[in-house]
Amino acid sequence: MRRLLVLTTLLAGLPLALSAHAEGTFSFATTPGQLPKTVVPTDYIIDLTTDMEHLTLQGDEIIRVEVQSPTADVTLNQAGLKLASALLDNSQKAEIRQDDAAETVTLHFPAPVPAGVHTLAIKYSGPILKTPNGIYIDDYTDPAGKPKRMLVTQFEVADARRMFPGWDEPAFKATYQLNVTLPFEYAAVSNMPIIGTTQQDAKTKRVSFSPTPRMSSYLLALVAGDMASVDGKADGTPIRVFAPSGLENQGTYALGAAEKILPYYNDYFGIKYPLPKMDMLAIPGNYQAGAMENWGALTYIDNVLLFDPKNSTPRTRELIYEVVAHEMAHQWSGDLVTMGWWDNIWLNEGFASW
Ligand SMILES: [Zn+2]
Repeated sequence: MRRLLVLTTLLAGLPLALSAHAEGTFSFATTPGQLPKTVVPTDYIIDLTTDMEHLTLQGDEIIRVEVQSPTADVTLNQAGLKLASALLDNSQKAEIRQDDAAETVTLHFPAPVPAGVHTLAIKYSGPILKTPNGIYIDDYTDPAGKPKRMLVTQFEVADARRMFPGWDEPAFKATYQLNVTLPFEYAAVSNMPIIGTTQQDAKTKRVSFSPTPRMSSYLLALVAGDMASVDGKADGTPIRVFAPSGLENQGTYALGAAEKILPYYNDYFGIKYPLPKMDMLAIPGNYQAGAMENWGALTYIDNVLLFDPKNSTPRTRELIYEVVAHEMAHQWSGDLVTMGWWDNIWLNEGFASW
């Protein structure tokens, strides 16, 4: 993430006498966190149905979990969601105990769930928010002066739990296969490429995305709306810059920057950008994070991604290059390699800025 008001000057006053202190090697069992580590998710299949008019979300998810030691209680995160049912291995129904203050739900089973691999099937509903966290709407006016509505997600630090029940802590890395039902005319972008689109009825379609690599929940992204892109490629990776339709050509400068930066980072990090595509999206207006490094679907407030040669200043060009370089660096520092807990976010951000 890059918030636009950064208090970097505060750091200049720190004394240099801080003693050397190295943390131990990462250990999943002992890294800080709030959820029990006895049940570990490995793969999610998430199916969302959006109602962009009434701002409601229906969800259906299947989570493959590994139970480390027998437990009758499975606790995961949710915020603002309402779980309708939860089924273990297609047979055992859970008693659902929501704790909305703690942003959790505990699935209680009559007998301990044995150690080993299991599936949880959860049905739930929730709101699509108007505030820019979790899954929310962004209402804006398009270049032709028409009111438009975009669907946006912003999950860092801990708002993935507003879109789906899950283990919403960075150490619980898993794969995510996302499916979403949307207005038919919307373009949809997530971390991974689209693998299928089916028309549902006269007004809606269901879009399926390829499963992500293992990653932290806060890096999942979904953006959909009346968008168009300018498309390029670097080192074999397709790169697209999306903007509200009609403004896509203002993404040309950022696209050119990304095409220069990607080969540089591939060489610098010594590991090639690991996803099959990279999309960058300009979010108009309702986007407080400034920019966010969602793996393969980087989001930016529109004025740090779009460049209008007629009206933008040289400073805007510098800012776009800087923010694009920062978010792209996070594709390695943050996304491929992630801090175990939020107390080390400084290192994640420090590396990306470096
Ligand atoms: Zn950052």
